[in-house]
This record gives sequence, C-alpha cells and structure tokens, in this order.
Amino acid sequence: MRVGHGFDVHRFEEGRALVLGGVRIPGSRGMAAHSDGDVPVHALCDALLGAAGLGDIGRHFPDDDSRFAGIDSRVLLRRVVQAVAEAGFGVGNADITIAAQAPRLAPYIGRMRELLAADLGLAPERLNIKATTTERLGFIGREEGIAAWAVVLIEPLQTA
Ligand code: MG
Repeated sequence: MRVGHGFDVHRFEEGRALVLGGVRIPGSRGMAAHSDGDVPVHALCDALLGAAGLGDIGRHFPDDDSRFAGIDSRVLLRRVVQAVAEAGFGVGNADITIAAQAPRLAPYIGRMRELLAADLGLAPERLNIKATTTERLGFIGREEGIAAWAVVLIEPLQTA
C-alpha cells in the first residue's frame, strides 16, 4: 500500500460562490480560483496523485488552460481517481481536514462525505472529513482564506 498527502489554500473573493467538498454553501463569499476553488477536493486530488507518484494537480490541470476555467473540481477528482486506477491502484481510505474560521461547515460535512466517497468509489465510512477553525489566528482566522489537508491510502488493484 502507499500513502499520499495533499494541501491547498484559496483566498476569498467577492462575487464567487463557495463550493467545498462538492457542496454549494450559501451565504458566504467564494474562493478566488481558476476552477470552482473547491479547496478540500484539490487537497484530495494532490494526495491521490502523490500516493501514486503522479505529480500534482497543477501538472494535470494547468490553471492557464481555458478547458479548466470554472470547472467543477469533482470532475477533476474523478479524472484523478481514473489516473490512479490506470497506475494500478484503488483508494483504501481518505481523511480530510478543512480549516475555515467562517462559515460554519458542520451542517455540510455529511453531504460532502457522500459526494466525495461516490467520486472515490468508496463506502462513506472510508472517507472522513473534519472541519476546524484556527481560533482566529492567521490568514484563516482573519477570514482571508480557507485551507485543507488530505491524507489517502491507496492499494494495488486486484488483477483477475
Ligand atoms: Mg487549489
């Protein structure tokens, strides 16, 4: 088995929708980004690519490529899962931490888990998503941006 780690940050921008873990979260500014700015999904993609030795999300989906402008990051995640499968691996489990001072994310975690587990081809029990604040410290605490970390384990696919 192999382990991979991913990290991502985006800053808030007026006039954008906030999408985290595939869930549209009402009542908040969104993230400045070339894609939809889904920070935990980007961290998860990088963890998967890292585990499989396939580089990083910027290499696969360059942010100066107009094909990816405004794209749903779950589309990117599903492509990454496919690339990991082509490298001979399936996802064992994943754990994500989102750091946001605001908005409060607890009401949305369950739905994020359902959506992203489906993209990963996992039972929801094998995907954990946590949210924390930074106790008002730093850029996250000042509500300038949101960060996320992801760790995944991948296992060789059984070949018939
Ligand atoms: Mg990103």
